[in-house]
Amino acid sequence: MALDDIRTRIRSAATAAGRNPDDITLIAISKVQPLERVEAVLEAGHRIFGENRVQEAGEKWPDFRERFDGVDLHLVGPLQSNKLNRALDLFDAIHSLDRDSLAKKLANAVQSRGGCPKLFVQVNVGREPQKAGVDPDGLEGFLKNCRDTLDLPISGLMTIPPADDEPEKWFGMLKQMAADQGLTELSMGMSGDFETAIAHGATHVRIGSAIFGERTTAG
Ligand SMILES: *Cc1c(COP(=O)(O)O)cnc(C)c1O
Repeated sequence: MALDDIRTRIRSAATAAGRNPDDITLIAISKVQPLERVEAVLEAGHRIFGENRVQEAGEKWPDFRERFDGVDLHLVGPLQSNKLNRALDLFDAIHSLDRDSLAKKLANAVQSRGGCPKLFVQVNVGREPQKAGVDPDGLEGFLKNCRDTLDLPISGLMTIPPADDEPEKWFGMLKQMAADQGLTELSMGMSGDFETAIAHGATHVRIGSAIFGERTTAG
């Protein structure tokens, strides 16, 4: 299946970059995919998945979790504060932390519930007005607030680079920003550019259509 091919390409890209392939986590992005395709990937033994909408995740993953042990589910799309508790019920990791108001609510929720998901701060590397993410100039202050004031453990940075540009410079920029902030994990790289992302230090690649096939509706 396509999953095996993607795993092979991830290993090759890691080796070519002088990296250990085991340091790269493949997140299979299952948004909008027919359930039988997702199930086939679960049957093949893969357990790490990503969704970009809280509601959609809630419609499929509680059932899958009952049937398959060890599912690790990542939220890679925007998170509205009013869906925060639902998101904490569903997800093991959040890649879209990007504003102070959300960070504060998250810190409160984590404190009352106990247990914090793995957290990535999303950075709007291309400063695109339509895109979510912290402005690169605001990253240091945002992280300081999360870490020092709110006591939220931040694992790394996430980005979706501008679509109409070579991704190299944006991946390199995210890597540099993470290094400057003492962060080691990088969520970057999708179906069309994950090998480039791995060459630039990605630790988490988010791959949808190359595993499951083209989506028939927009994600
Ligand atoms: C849909 C999506 C992906 C996967 O995109 P593909 O091009 O299908 O691999 C990765 N990251 C995010 C945030 C997404 O919304």
